[in-house]
Amino acid sequence: MAAAFIDTARISVRAGKGGNGAVAFHREKYVAAGGPDGGDGGAGGNIVLQVDDNMSTLMDFRYKRKYIAENGADGQGSRRNGRGGRPLVIRVPRGTLVRDAESGDIIRDMSDGEPFVLCKGGRGGWGNAHFATPTRQVPRFAKAGLEGEAHDVVLELKLLADVGLIGFPNVGKSTLLSVVSKAQPKIANYHFTTLFPNLGVVYVNEETSFVLADIPGIIEGASEGAGLGHDFLRHVDRCRLLVHVVDVSGSEGRDPVADFDAINAELAQWSPELVKRPQLVVANKTDIMADESLLDALRAHVAPLGYPLFALSAASHTGTRELVQAIAAKLAELPPVTVYEPTYVPKPPVIEADEPLEIEHVDEVWYVSGKWLEHLMANVNFSDYESRMFFDKALRDNGVFRRLEEQGVTDGDTVDLYGLQFEYQK
Ligand code: GDP
Ligand code: MG
Repeated sequence: MAAAFIDTARISVRAGKGGNGAVAFHREKYVAAGGPDGGDGGAGGNIVLQVDDNMSTLMDFRYKRKYIAENGADGQGSRRNGRGGRPLVIRVPRGTLVRDAESGDIIRDMSDGEPFVLCKGGRGGWGNAHFATPTRQVPRFAKAGLEGEAHDVVLELKLLADVGLIGFPNVGKSTLLSVVSKAQPKIANYHFTTLFPNLGVVYVNEETSFVLADIPGIIEGASEGAGLGHDFLRHVDRCRLLVHVVDVSGSEGRDPVADFDAINAELAQWSPELVKRPQLVVANKTDIMADESLLDALRAHVAPLGYPLFALSAASHTGTRELVQAIAAKLAELPPVTVYEPTYVPKPPVIEADEPLEIEHVDEVWYVSGKWLEHLMANVNFSDYESRMFFDKALRDNGVFRRLEEQGVTDGDTVDLYGLQFEYQK
């Protein structure tokens, strides 16, 4: 059997660390004491997610689970800044949900084509050239680069399709997809042929098209995880309309009514919401139908449920045009495909303020450093007001201002936190 269809994966990603700033002094023949000219460290590379429409599974993530972007290079003398780390682009199939591994909350729905920065690279440290001012003659310090962000995430593929084909294996789902779209799914006369979902675009007319997904066989017991089906049900979650294909030929000794009910029972067990999704019923293989009473029984069964029924033969392209028209008409009434909103709220960084803080007073500037402060700086989004307020409170709560005052800071002095400078005010 072909490799199993992989539609969830847990991965660890880490953006690159920023390069360190350099401490260097300008040296030139006949110039006695050159100024500080250490360049800045380069920023660490980001972790970026990008949709790749050539991918239809998360199989690539089965063996490779750790992704680390490149670090920024250290700064050098002569004001040469370190090169930024290259971003690491991770390609995912369209429709992949990115969840926080710990909480399960949605970070991002990779449905549109926009690249998404999952983790930001650490800022590069400033070289001592930055600290060269007329009053500061010998800046012997530079700043270390900051750590890149890291995250454990779960990827979950939920295909992006308007219409999902559901039904037992071998009823003709793949055949129908190949007939109405240009997709070329595997078609064979044995069960479980379709191990990968296939997507096809169906062109109805110049203005109208829709995406049809062939969902691999749902089998009985699937919603309890008994078979393949369990994994595949999540792919119909987004579909606006389900096309329920039933074999009415009796050629495999199947009972169309029992099949229809069994599939719907599976859907209901997976999700009570899903079973209420609009359905169209396709009674397939009418070309080899030996006993018309099977079709009549199915028709009588679904009519009171309000599902329209289309008797057709996918293999001989009979009745498929009418089905496509009916699907398009139904879709026009339905809301667009679900795009999941993010539910993940980044946690404020954990502060272990027991760790010591260092305060240096050099040439009128107060440089504060410490492990937790560095960590805090790397995690605060300074372009966001709430985050800045959080940051200010964290500094206050952890005694940064109190310690500065103990050391004699006064109003109007410059305070430097890892390159972030501000004027001190009580
Ligand atoms: P799936 O498992 O539901 O995707 O089913 P397939 O599309 O792979 O079809 C299973 C078998 O049924 C294949 O041998 C197809 O050629 C055959 N088949 C599909 N549709 C029809 C049909 O309308 N008439 C007949 N006679 N055979 C069909
Ligand atoms: Mg198939």
